[in-house]
Amino acid sequence: MLNKVIWFDNPNEFIKRLVSIWVDYNASDIHITPSKDYVYIRFRISGNLVSFYWITLEQYEKLLNTIKVRAYMTIDEHNHIQDWKMSFNFKKWEEDLLVNVRVSVLPTIYWENTVMRLLLSGSKYLDINNLGFSNNTLDRVKNILNMNDWLVLLCGGTWSWKTTTLYSLLHEFDPITNAVFTLEDPVEYVIDWYVQSEIKERKIWDDKVNYTFQEWLVWILRQDPDIIMIWEIRRGVEASICLEAASTWHIVMWSTHASSAIGAITRLKKLWVEPYLLASSIKYIIFQKLLRWLCPHCRKEIILNKNEIPEKFQSYLPLDKNKFYSVNSEWCENCTKWYVWNTLVAEIIQNDDDIYNQILSEGGDIEFNAILKWKWFIPYYIDALNKAFEWLIDIKDVIILD
Ligand SMILES: [Zn+2]
Repeated sequence: MLNKVIWFDNPNEFIKRLVSIWVDYNASDIHITPSKDYVYIRFRISGNLVSFYWITLEQYEKLLNTIKVRAYMTIDEHNHIQDWKMSFNFKKWEEDLLVNVRVSVLPTIYWENTVMRLLLSGSKYLDINNLGFSNNTLDRVKNILNMNDWLVLLCGGTWSWKTTTLYSLLHEFDPITNAVFTLEDPVEYVIDWYVQSEIKERKIWDDKVNYTFQEWLVWILRQDPDIIMIWEIRRGVEASICLEAASTWHIVMWSTHASSAIGAITRLKKLWVEPYLLASSIKYIIFQKLLRWLCPHCRKEIILNKNEIPEKFQSYLPLDKNKFYSVNSEWCENCTKWYVWNTLVAEIIQNDDDIYNQILSEGGDIEFNAILKWKWFIPYYIDALNKAFEWLIDIKDVIILD
């Protein structure tokens, strides 16, 4: 089945087949990449791209046109970036699933590259308990949910399940008795009772959205919200409006791109957000990262000596534990690529007087880390180390974390 040129008659059926593979392999994205002679179709499975099919350029024309029609894109536009979404019903595991697909098309030297990010809609997949957070993280997240007023900043890299976590947090609230507003680019999970708006960062050619990010943020105050979720703030002015307005909202969650919880503050400061706004508004910063979950059937035991583990982990290593698990490179019929699923590791900063002062100060990451250490802060790489102790993830994936 793998890596051969294949033919299809009906592009819609072929899209369904791709989605079926995506579900079977727990993949996150589908990459469709044209080259000189063929178009390669790869799936991102547990973080790695795996090649599945080649199709001809003629077949790709049919496929791309169908994708564009279904994603409301302009078919005869080949020179601009287009980004939108499609959704369809799909039957799997005896269940009717609603699959949301975020489609992005980018012009290349050989036609257009297509990347589809797939998300399952449905409450089952939006449960904070099922994302893989450690018990410690889960307890802290649930504590946040019990507070009445808070602003939580959720950060992570690309492909870190930020949207899924945000929706799982929202899912903890009764959508009927809470006015939930979301602003996204575009909406990835469609949920009854939520007021969901879409804003487009990138220009498209039949743009129906007639308001800016800032206008939405200001206007939303007149819509009497209880909970607001904002996806991916990228500009300082937007962050500032959001932080200023946060004091009048009850519960606000937004996501940003950062490589650690401290990194999120550094990034917002670099966007020229006033430190006093950050310090006085943000209550919690959650950073999360997705790691591969070892297949329990084929993982193999490895012994690592203390000196093989980087310095920053050393003070957390118990003397008697040096037995870990790693991937076994032999074929396993229970999994593909020796991983079964993904799991989240996280770190959480809770704002208090010391953190407040630290955000206001000119001090860098070293001073910040010193304060956090004193507060029993658990860095995400130590959260990951604990999962390696539980044999859930490959120790080799942990010791490379920066
Ligand atoms: Zn296996």
